[in-house]
Formats: sequence, structure tokens, C-alpha cells
Amino acid sequence: MKATDNDDILIEHIKAVHQWTEKLYQNTTEVRTLEPQLVLQCLEELSTALEELYIAEEEVRLQNEELIVARQAIEAERQRYRELFEFAPDGYLVTDIYGLIQEANRVASQLLNIEQRFLIGKPLINAVPEEHRRAFRAMLIQLHTVNRVEEWEISLSRRRVGLFDAALTVETVRDVNKQAIALRWMLRDITSRKQAEAQLRQVQLENLQLIEADRLKSQFMATVSHELRTPMNAILGFSELLLRGFQRERNAQQINMIERILNNGKQLLMMIEEILDFSKLKANRLELRLDAFDLAELATTTTEELRSLAEQKAIDLQVHLAKSNIPVVNDRMRLRQVLVNLISNAIKFTETGSVTLEIWELPEGRLAIIVSDTGIGIDLADQSRIFQEFWQVDQTSTRKNNGTGLGLAIANALVQLMHGTISVESQLEAGSTFRVELPRRILPH
Ligand code: ADP
Repeated sequence: MKATDNDDILIEHIKAVHQWTEKLYQNTTEVRTLEPQLVLQCLEELSTALEELYIAEEEVRLQNEELIVARQAIEAERQRYRELFEFAPDGYLVTDIYGLIQEANRVASQLLNIEQRFLIGKPLINAVPEEHRRAFRAMLIQLHTVNRVEEWEISLSRRRVGLFDAALTVETVRDVNKQAIALRWMLRDITSRKQAEAQLRQVQLENLQLIEADRLKSQFMATVSHELRTPMNAILGFSELLLRGFQRERNAQQINMIERILNNGKQLLMMIEEILDFSKLKANRLELRLDAFDLAELATTTTEELRSLAEQKAIDLQVHLAKSNIPVVNDRMRLRQVLVNLISNAIKFTETGSVTLEIWELPEGRLAIIVSDTGIGIDLADQSRIFQEFWQVDQTSTRKNNGTGLGLAIANALVQLMHGTISVESQLEAGSTFRVELPRRILPH
């Protein structure tokens, strides 16, 4: 039953009681002329009137109770809303349509660093820095017609602390006639998001710069080494001619000097070649020239070429081949380069003992090339790094062995091009074993 229906019934009852009492009054004033019968009727009417009054009173009581329950429900609802508003994780404000603050929750007060009670009655624009105020006013005007402004990013001032990046979401509250009567604001501090975005942009920029620097470096290395190779070849060619001349004249001192020029020149050329190869590999410009040949023959000739190096240090250089003929399909020159690098490193880093090259056939059409030495060995911590470009275990300028630190990086990249793997096992002072595993036949792309 609706409250108004209740009210109507109650009024009817009271009216009825009123009429009965009126009637009774009139009747009792005339009581002297009344007959006993009439007195009896009057009393009955009075009793009925009292009953009606009682019912009416009961209904009023009931309605009161309903009213109290309804009021309590409204109060609980209001309290719930207040708590939601007060303890919301974001800043909430209610302002009038001109931006005068009427309500502010805890987070809003924390964000602006002003106590809640001091916020009430103040214009929100106070927290907006001078340069953004025009835009803020324009938004207030816009909100008369628009219902919602979402995530508007603006700087706000935190009292005595400074500015912070905020995102504002505003909603217009309207009355039944659709007139704007208040504004509800949600305030979020987006400083950390902004910082993360700025950092990300910075990292992306640095990344681009790094990529560009790396490209320039590779290009520079390729150009320089190419330019150096031509004059070096001339120096080596003429030194050889000179050497032959001096050899005919048997001039020992001159021969010795020219041999030094030649050896150092060759060393320099080798380093230039390494840098050139490396820059090509980095730029993915190195392609294998596949050919069918006998690996046993390549291994023997390469070891023979390096034998004089081993003999100079009285190192025993041995070769163990699975078969006297090992047919493969690979790039002969590049595979030779891998062998030379591993064997010459083994000789370079061994003072006494031996260096051994072994080649084994493995199942599934693969083979293993193993170069072991009894040299200085490589510390476990350095073993994964020696395949990185320019990494040398001894990085002092006084180190005994020369080199660019590119040999293993190139060998590693070449072996990968050959669909193979390269690994090392070593113990300090005991020696190292480098193992290359490759398919016997590399298929052209
Ligand atoms: P480079 O020989 O020009 O220095 P590499 O890339 O060929 O460069 O080798 C990198 C480093 O790995 C060497 O400087 C050396 O410290 C270590 N290394 C390579 N081979 C051996 C080996 N057989 N025994 C000990 N150390 C080695």
C-alpha cells in the first residue's frame, strides 16, 4: 500500500470519528428531552466512534513504524555511499557547476595536500596552474552541454609540494529538467605512469641510436679494413721481392729485417681480414661457397702449414683422422679458416706439450672436429665469453699473445652458418678442448 492511500484512509477515519462526536454532542445537549432509547443509541455511537479512533490510532502507529524503518534504510544507504565516497582509492570531489568544491574525499585531500574541511567552499581552479586555467574554464563551460569528460590529463598543484600529473574524469549531475546542478570529479595521480611512458620513450630512442651506431660501426669497419687491405698487399708484395733480392746477395742482416717486415705485415693483414669478415658476418653479408671436397686432405694440409709455428715452440702437433678420405660438402676456405683459428689458438696458448686435431664421423650424417691442447686452459667463468667478439681472457696491454679477439667470434658465426655447433671444455693449467659438430653435407639454401 502506498503512503498516500494510507493517508487518505486515515483522514476518512478521523473525519468519521469527528462526525460521530459532533452528533453525540448535539444529542447529549438535548438529553433532557431524549428518551432512554435515544441515550442508548448515543452510547452505542460513542462506542463505535471510539473503535474507529482506536483503529485510526493503530494505523498511525503502523505507519510511523514503516516510516522509521524506511528512514533507517535511507540512512544506511547514505552511510554506505559516504564510506564508498570517502574511502575510494581515487580522489573524488563534488562541485557546483562553477567548480566550487562541495564535497571532497580523503584521497582528493591527500592529492591536493589540503585538509578536507579547508577544501569545502574553495574553487577547484585554485589547484590548476596559471597556464592551464583557460583550458580548465573552457571545460567547465563545456560541461553544461556535455555529460562527461574522460581522462583529461592536466597538471595539478599539490600544496607546498609542487605540480603532479593528474587525469580528471568529470560527470555532470542534472535535475529532472535536465539542468546541470553539480559536477562529480574523479582525480587520479598519473605521475608514475607518465614517468614510465617517458622512460620507455627514452629507452626506445636509445635503442634506435644504438642500432644506428652499430650499423655505422660495422660500415666503418668494413670500409677501413677494405681500404687497409690494398696498401698492405702492396707492402707485402714488395717486401717479398726485396727479400728475394737480399737472399740472392746473402745479406743476413737485411734478410732478417725484411723477414720481420713480412711477418708483421702478414699478421696485420690477417687481423684486417678478420675485421672484414666479422663486419660481413654481422651484416649477414657473408655467404658460403659450397663445394664437395675431402676434409681429410684439408685437415692434413692446414696442419702442415701451421707445423712450423708449433715447432718454434717445440710443441708436438698431431692429427688423428677417422678415415683417410672424408668427403664433405662445405665452403672449403671458410672451414679452413675455422681449423686455422682453433689450431693456431691452441699453439698460441700452449707453452709445452701437444696440440691434437681429431676428426670423427658421427651418426646422422654429422662429424666432429676436435682440437685439444695441453696449454694454459680457460677459467670456467671465461668459457662462455670467449666466443663473444673482442673478448680476450688476458685484457692487459702487456699481454704476450697478439690477436684481435675476433677469431673465435668469427669461427662461431661461421660454424653456425654451416648449421653446426662449437663448444669448449677446459681446465686452468691443464689445457682446452674445442669441439665443432657439423653436418657432413651442407645443403644450399
Ligand atoms: P684472439 O686469439 O685473437 O685473442 P680469439 O677470439 O681467437 O681471439 O680468442 C679469444 C680468447 O680466448 C683468447 O684471447 C684467449 O684468451 C682465449 N682462448 C682461445 N683459445 C684458447 C686456448 N686454446 N687456450 C686458452 N685460451 C684460449
